[in-house]
Amino acid sequence: MAASDRRVLIAGGGPVGLLCAWLLGRRGLRVLVCDDNSELQADPRAATTHPATLDLLEEDELDDDMARVGLVAPIFQFWDRPSGKLVAEFDHAVLKNDTRHPFVVQCEQFKTAKLLLDRLRSLANVEVLFSHEVVGVAQNADTVSIEVRGPDGVKRHTGAYLIGADGGRSVVRKQCGIAFDGFTWPERFIVFTTPYDFEKNRGYCPRSYFADPGSWCNCFKVSADGPPGLWRTVFPTDTSQPDADVTSDEAVQALMQKFFPSPEPYEVVHRNLYVTHQRVAATFRKGRVLLAGDAAHVNNPIGGMGLNGGIQDAANLCEKLAKVLLEGASERLLDLYNLQRRTVAIEFVQEQSIANKKRLEASDPEVRRRNLDELRQMAADRERARAFLLRTAMIASQRRAAALILEEA
Ligand SMILES: Cc1cc2nc3c(=O)[nH]c(=O)nc-3n(C[C@H](O)[C@H](O)[C@H](O)COP(=O)(O)OP(=O)(O)OC[C@H]3O[C@@H](n4cnc5c(N)ncnc54)[C@H](O)[C@@H]3O)c2cc1C
Repeated sequence: MAASDRRVLIAGGGPVGLLCAWLLGRRGLRVLVCDDNSELQADPRAATTHPATLDLLEEDELDDDMARVGLVAPIFQFWDRPSGKLVAEFDHAVLKNDTRHPFVVQCEQFKTAKLLLDRLRSLANVEVLFSHEVVGVAQNADTVSIEVRGPDGVKRHTGAYLIGADGGRSVVRKQCGIAFDGFTWPERFIVFTTPYDFEKNRGYCPRSYFADPGSWCNCFKVSADGPPGLWRTVFPTDTSQPDADVTSDEAVQALMQKFFPSPEPYEVVHRNLYVTHQRVAATFRKGRVLLAGDAAHVNNPIGGMGLNGGIQDAANLCEKLAKVLLEGASERLLDLYNLQRRTVAIEFVQEQSIANKKRLEASDPEVRRRNLDELRQMAADRERARAFLLRTAMIASQRRAAALILEEA
């Protein structure tokens, strides 16, 4: 059988798994996606899609569709919560010569997944099975197979490669014995979604970060079902409080009022609690198994880099897999995928997401003053602002990945 006739198996039909299916399916490759949910997950997680990621999503105008169902946000702000003062404002326009998208698009991840699923329906060579859980993985020199538990029992499927895009608790990663080193933050991250219009009522822009000693808040807008949209506020929890207490109505109002005092109680339409980790898989490739997205790396959401990293994995991996399967390129390309994407997961996403959190939560007055002064100075200096935005917009990490090459075998 020709290599191009053999299927690519994908565990996980989240945004990363579906994007991989689409990128491979569009090139004519046969793909099977298995996801354990009965339908697309609709929980409110990622929204921010950075310029470097949008530059990768131009095929079939996916970037335009995301902007149409989401919001275009060129600016983000840093605020000092205790004084209520705006510290710094950054405009992606400074990146106009670095990206075709000098802005972020706030598009909820379930909308991105839905745009992909709709596209996949037109590809006869791609099969997506919901309510199908991958429970086993085995490989030999020529093939990889998965055991999948579905409504009709457990079945085995075989393919040329398997992409583990099955999220942070990845069964694929675990079955392959790949370590997931790093750490778990002691505090939970809690997200409240409210229709309260922070822009109209308080002058915050659709991506606003708040520094507060020992705490922090990300406040950002999503388009939801249409105007006027919804606002998501993300906070750390108090580690001394049990999970049930932090989601009580009293606790929700107390946290919102502490950050954003208001004479009226806040209407909160969703509350979600997340355990948050900083971890990177020991390798993104084991033989015929490749890891992508949260299965390969997880980080805190400050700066919105997790799914962006996953989309960048998908684009990098699928280009290489297609070359291997359709053009007979060397499998060493898959080692290059591991080198490029794993390096930037460590050097950029881990490092920066941790630094973002530390910057916002610093409690030492001298450290706080230094942090906020640095932000002010960067915002006031065009070249420094550009250098900062190249990192936040994930352009610097894409450039670093592209420059990495394998040593001779
Ligand atoms: C509060 C919050 C805010 C965030 N904001 C941002 C942001 O603004 N920008 C950003 O880039 N990132 C953000 N993230 C991170 C982002 O949500 C994740 O990085 C993203 O969901 C990863 O996508 P994925 O497809 O790799 O994994 P997932 O979305 O977790 O999808 C994995 C899929 O695999 C399925 N699955 C799991 N196990 C199996 C199995 N054994 N068999 C079959 N299927 C299986 C799951 O059910 C799921 O459908 C945020 C995260 C949180 C918690």
